[in-house]
Formats: sequence, structure tokens, C-alpha cells
Amino acid sequence: MTAEDVDRWSSLQIQREIPGSSQGRLLQLLHQNGDRSRADLARAAGFTKATVSSLVTEMLEEGLIVETRRRPIGGRGRPAVDLNIDRENWRVVALDLSHDDGFYGAVLDLSGRVLHRDSILSLAAQGEVALQMAIELAERLCAAAAGRIIGMGVSAPGIVDADGVVLASHNLRWTDVPLKDVLLERFDLPVSVENDANVAALAERDRVGAQSDLMVVKLGYGVGSGIIANGKLIHGSHYTAGEIGHIASGDSADYRCVCGRAGCLEATLSLPRLNARLSAADERDRAEILEDAGRILGNALAPLVGALGTEVVILTGVSDEVADSLVVAARDAMRPRLTEESWASLDLRISPLGDDLAFQGAVSLVSSAVLGVP
Ligand SMILES: [Zn+2]
Repeated sequence: MTAEDVDRWSSLQIQREIPGSSQGRLLQLLHQNGDRSRADLARAAGFTKATVSSLVTEMLEEGLIVETRRRPIGGRGRPAVDLNIDRENWRVVALDLSHDDGFYGAVLDLSGRVLHRDSILSLAAQGEVALQMAIELAERLCAAAAGRIIGMGVSAPGIVDADGVVLASHNLRWTDVPLKDVLLERFDLPVSVENDANVAALAERDRVGAQSDLMVVKLGYGVGSGIIANGKLIHGSHYTAGEIGHIASGDSADYRCVCGRAGCLEATLSLPRLNARLSAADERDRAEILEDAGRILGNALAPLVGALGTEVVILTGVSDEVADSLVVAARDAMRPRLTEESWASLDLRISPLGDDLAFQGAVSLVSSAVLGVP
């Protein structure tokens, strides 16, 4: 079969049929365990071999899975054929709407390999202009994606609900923008929209060796975080979990936050505010500003880490040099505020994925929404 076969399921059909189905159960097992034979799958899923065999045949025809390698059993007899998710066959279109100089996008395969990059640069695009710009970038990426697109994952600044509506985004000047529906109607593909810090947290969760209890703190126009507990993203009842920007923990009473109060994290750590202070300072003052900012960050994070049992806190959005200083000061501030156990197991660091966090997280988002894999 070729990718052009018209009788293949569309990605939207896959999204409707697979999660929660018997095929979905097999995909989950392959996602979690890698290469497995039909017999392995039957055992793990509790299905008969005949059932697995027929499900596997359908999924092979569909291009969802692929036969991988042959292991001779005990060196003799018939070789066994392993199966795995066909990660190279599918394309994910990823959009990152959280930069202040424009929108960035990429086409990736399901293993997270970036195959193509594109961007539309425009300073501070907002409102309807920003929406049209996102659509144009998505169009370009879909056109460039050679292969079957399984879905589109969008990392958006602001508060995003479960239906992919951007309820409020200060930088984009969006209120109740149904971004998922707009893109779904336009592209006829599964679309997932999620808050940018949450997307970053998914990316970190799914890296090899990453923890299932982690928090990504994203410094940008505001200060946000994505929290993963027991392997799952926490949204909160109003989709505002992780919105730590207006936790009052600082002592910079001289500076009012955009929310009207003093002492918010954003008043110290939002990039416009932090960069303005750093650029006006000499080297000694710079060190002091960063130490102060890191201490305020640590003060805010300590009770969250203690309460949630978070093991890894990852800082992203700033240059390595700035992040290094912030991490050192935040760690010092957290130590006396945590129990010995929490402190001993805590890993506070900078993300190695950098700007690609949004793209890697989009792959996680789409895999989960369309294939039902965690
Ligand atoms: Zn505030």
C-alpha cells in the first residue's frame, strides 16, 4: 500500500476509532515497551493470539505499526517478528506561538525527529492578525510535510481549555479564541492546543529517563509552569494550574505588576522586566539582580515542590548564562524551605531541549490525542 491509498483511514478517523479500542491497547503496549512480538502482545493485553493477529494485520495495513526485526528463538526454528509503532511513517505539524518575534513551526515524525522548520517573523502580532498568521504557518507546514500527517499540535501562550479554546492570552490579545476548531475546520486534521508551559512539561516527561513528577518553569512575557504529577499533566478546574506568575512571593514592593499588585513573580521574573533591569546594570549589579531574582523564584517554588513531591524542576525561556545564575540562587533559597527528603531528591536544572521543547511536546500531545498513548 502507498500513502496515497484513498481507502485508508483519515487521521480524524484514527482519532475517533483507536483510543480506548483493542487496537489502542496494543499501541499503548508498543509505545511503553518498544519492540514486541504478537505473542508478547497477546500475553500482555490478555487477548487471544488469533485476536492479536487480526488486529495487527489491520494496523499493518493502516500503516500504524511496522514489523521491525526478526529474533531467532533459541537460535533455532521459525524466527519471530517484532512489531512497533511506525514512528517514521507519520508526520506531526507543530506550532509554537509563544515567541515575541513571530511564530515558529516544524514538521516532525512520531519519534520527535525534526524534518522541516519554518517561521513567520513579525513583532508582536496580535488579535485577528496573529490568528491569520498561525493559519498561514500551518498551511506552509502541511504543504511541506511529505508523508501522512497524523495531527497538529499547538503550543499557545495563555490559558487554554480542554476544547482548545484560548480563554485568555495577554501577549496575543486573544480572549475565547476557538483555535482548535478554527484549525480543525481549515485542515481537516486532528488538532490539539495546549498551554505552552504544559507542552514543555510533556516534552520533558517523554524524554528518555525523565521523571513522572516534574515541573517546567517557563520565563517569557509572563511566568508560567507546567506540572506533571504521576505522569499526568495537571490542569486544575479552571485550566489555570501552573499559572504561578501572580503568586506574591517577592519583596519588590516598588514595582507594581500588570495585575495591579506588588511582589508577584512576574514583577521580578518576566523577561521584559528582567531584561530591562539587566541591560541598565553594570556587571556587579547584574549578578545581584540575578541572585535576587533566583531567590524570589526559589521562595515561590519551594512550597509547590514540597506539596507535590516534585523531583525535577526545569527552567526554560532564558539564556543559559542567566538560567545558570537563577538556578544557583533558587536552589540556595529552596534548601531551608524543604524537608531533607524533598531536597535530597530534587533536581533543579535547565532544559537541554531549548526552543525545541514546544515541538517535542507537540509530538507527545498529538500521540496522546490521536493514538491514545500516554
Ligand atoms: Zn501580578
